[in-house]
Parts: sequence; structure tokens; C-alpha cells
Amino acid sequence: MQSNIIGLHHVTAMSGHPQRNVDFYHGILGLRLVKVSVNQDDPDTYHLFYGDGKGSPGSAMTFFPWMNMRAGYVGARQVGVTAFSVPKTAIPFWQQRLETAGFHPSLEERFGEPTLMFADPDGILLEIVGAADDPRQAWADGPVPQEFGIHGFHHVELWTKDPEPTGDFLSQVFRTAIASHSGDRTRHIFGAGAPGQIVDLVQLSDRPNGLMGVGTVHHVAFRTPMPEDELIVREAVEAGGLRPTEVIDRFWFKSVYFREPGGVLFELATDTPGFDVDEHAEKLGEKLILPPWLEARRSLLEKSLVHFELPNGVSFPI
Ligand code: ZN
Repeated sequence: MQSNIIGLHHVTAMSGHPQRNVDFYHGILGLRLVKVSVNQDDPDTYHLFYGDGKGSPGSAMTFFPWMNMRAGYVGARQVGVTAFSVPKTAIPFWQQRLETAGFHPSLEERFGEPTLMFADPDGILLEIVGAADDPRQAWADGPVPQEFGIHGFHHVELWTKDPEPTGDFLSQVFRTAIASHSGDRTRHIFGAGAPGQIVDLVQLSDRPNGLMGVGTVHHVAFRTPMPEDELIVREAVEAGGLRPTEVIDRFWFKSVYFREPGGVLFELATDTPGFDVDEHAEKLGEKLILPPWLEARRSLLEKSLVHFELPNGVSFPI
């Protein structure tokens, strides 16, 4: 059955200080900071977007650095793990790189792919999966050699005590197929199930529910490439008894939000117009970008946002 969703679009999490966030996701993981903006619902907080060289859908990891927020707890009813895809041959490189940087990954083989598991400096659970076949390209000009670099997402894990309602929702409304099952993990896929088209539903019977806060994922967004795809899926979500928002213009994409039956906040997001709608593709992420309706508040926002900088000397908020 054809789905109007073609995979993961972005994952948004809550972090502490933006400098620590940039030092890790850009400096260690080698992702490009492709957009520096503000949280459109709380504009005194940044919204940082990382990705491949273009910030392609399926590679975008984004953060709200909420420095005064409590620490969260990663548990059921959340995205428990966000996994990135690298070439299989790059796993020894990453094991060494993470070890040297003071992160101590454990290595496991899952569905035939080597997987490094670790946590970021705020406690967000991450994995780097050595994928056999991922035609996407890593950023060519970053701190990690392109041959080893992150191509984008591999999968996300949805953590739940009761997998049935979420599993039914994924199959019936998102029209995923079940590709494999192992222990407490059921792998749902969009399309061919390539890296970036995978959602693992993981049953954790004894784990308490998660608590939103620093170190947890806020939501996961799925790719509905064109606005008409988004409307079709939105209608299916509503027909399935859930309560999606209206389409919200996020400027770089159009979004619809709702909570899936297992409690995780889901978003639908279009591929267009994309991050280069307001910045030249070569200059992405070099200045604070505000959506047009917040430009009038720019000088006030520049006073309230905290300072951070990139290794090339580019600094924010100005
Ligand atoms: Zn989002």
C-alpha cells in the first residue's frame, strides 16, 4: 500500500547551552549548522538546525536550547533513540572519534548492521549505524572526512509500554510495512526501508514514562514531500480519531502536529520550500534568521539571546 510519507524529515530535541550543543553536533558529529533561528512559539530561545551539506529532509536534527528548563527523563511515550547512518566501513572511525572525545559508545550488531550507542552531552540517546547501502552523501566540507560522515537519519525508536495502538496507527494511517521483528523491537518501514525510512517500535515494559525536559526529544517529523501529500495524511490522521493541528507555516516547511496514540508528538513536514529559501546554499547557518513576522523584534531578540560561536569565528546572535 502506497504511503504519502516517504520517511523521516527531522527530529527536534531540547538541549542545554547552545555552545555545548554546537561543539558536539557540529564539532564532533560533523553535521553542518544549516540554520540559526528562534523558536517560533518562544522567540527568546534559539532554534538550531543541523544536517548534511544542504540540510536535506531526513538529515535535520534540530534543537531548542532551553537553558533554564529542568532535565528531562528518557522513557516510554517518547522518541527514546535517534540513530544516524554512516557507511559500514566508518564504524571503527566513529568508535575511535567518540572515545577520544570522552563519549564511550557501546557496540552492538542489530539486523546485520553494526551500531554504536551513546548519549550526547545533555543525555539525548543517539546511535550511529553502519548501513550497508545508503546512497545519500555526507557534508563535504565539515570537520569529519566525507567518506566517514553522517548521511542523515537511520531510524528513530519510539518507546512504549504497549506497542499495539502505535503499531496499528503506523500500519493503518501512516501505511508502514513491518520489515522485521526481534525481541521487543518491531521495525516499521516506509517505501523500501532504506536508512531514513525506518521507525522502530520498542516495548519497554518496566520503563517509566518519559518526562519532557533537557536531554529528551520533543517531536519527530515525517516527510510528506508536497503540500498535497501533507493534506492527505492529515485527513487520514483525523479520520483515525486523532486531532491534528491545521497546517502551520514554518517558513522552511509546512507543518501539522498531533500526538499519536502512544503519546509521542508527531509532525508532518513538507520538503519544500527548504532551508535555502532565505539564505544562499553556501552561506547557510551564518547569521540569525528570523521569519518575516519576527523581524520587527530583531534588536530586542538580539539582546536576549545568549552568545555562542562556531569554530570558523562566526558568532551569534550577531
Ligand atoms: Zn518540527
